[in-house]
Amino acid sequence: MKLIDGKQVAESVKERLKAEVAKLKENGVHPCLAVILAGNDPASQVYVKNKIKTAEELGIKSLSFTFDESVTEEQLIEVIETLNADATVHGILVQLPLPKGLNEERVLKSISDEKDVDGFSAYNMGQLVLGREGFVPCTPLGVIELLKSTGEEISGKRAVIIGRSNIVGKPLALLLLKENATVTVCHTKTKNLKEVSKEADILVAAVGRAKMVTDDMVKDGAIVIDVGINRVDGKLCGDVDFDNVKEKCSYITPVPGGVGPMTIAMLMNNTVLSAKRSAK
Ligand code: NAD
Repeated sequence: MKLIDGKQVAESVKERLKAEVAKLKENGVHPCLAVILAGNDPASQVYVKNKIKTAEELGIKSLSFTFDESVTEEQLIEVIETLNADATVHGILVQLPLPKGLNEERVLKSISDEKDVDGFSAYNMGQLVLGREGFVPCTPLGVIELLKSTGEEISGKRAVIIGRSNIVGKPLALLLLKENATVTVCHTKTKNLKEVSKEADILVAAVGRAKMVTDDMVKDGAIVIDVGINRVDGKLCGDVDFDNVKEKCSYITPVPGGVGPMTIAMLMNNTVLSAKRSAK
């Protein structure tokens, strides 16, 4: 078994981006990411802090807008519209979840498609379905980078994704299809999950259930990517029972230190991409 070191792969993505940011700046374009945080969810505060810190490390300008939980949809949309109109801002991110009672869809919808670096808008999802240029959600994009870092061919492989969310499972299925894998998406209504997952050359777990993937669900020599982030007795763990599965697979990602660092790196990637597009 070989470990896929997400921190290391993320570092190499960030090195590439650092050089690209420096080049853009020489040409008078300073990549800029605006991050909006509403409410006081501790996990969201940590995520936002890490995003801003990473942006600064790469020379990307960051703007941060924080609101308490009494903020209204209208106030958030007003800020987003100002940022939409500001040509020096290349990416706009609204940290989810929003405080209870706010309509996330309505708020996210107000982000311009050209600055939707999370890739969640209907336009960007549609572009992904059609195989056209847009922004691809960061976590699935990071999964593809991790797979490519192994040097193994994706084309022709049987890929099984457990989880069909709009932010991970569905976009990842489309990306794997683009890489010419044969893709199956499993979910709560899938029958004989074990039989299906056992066919996977590439198995991705994006469920949110601690250690649900066990060795009897994994084919010998499979590449296993664990997207899950769960907390058990105060400790982070993935959707894959790592110790139980590790000897069965050819490659596996740890939690933490696997997909997590890639998500932030790909957010930076999308911001730089947006800055490059605006410079054209
Ligand atoms: P979600 O709750 O939106 O979706 C979970 C999916 O799992 C659903 O499609 C559901 O059908 C499926 N599912 C649930 N129970 C199942 C079961 N018993 N058998 C088969 N399928 C089942 O979650 P999400 O937003 O896609 O996130 C999934 C996990 O990935 C969570 O742990 C989340 O914290 C994590 N995550 C990590 C990152 C990262 O950066 N590493 C980013 C996003 C999400």
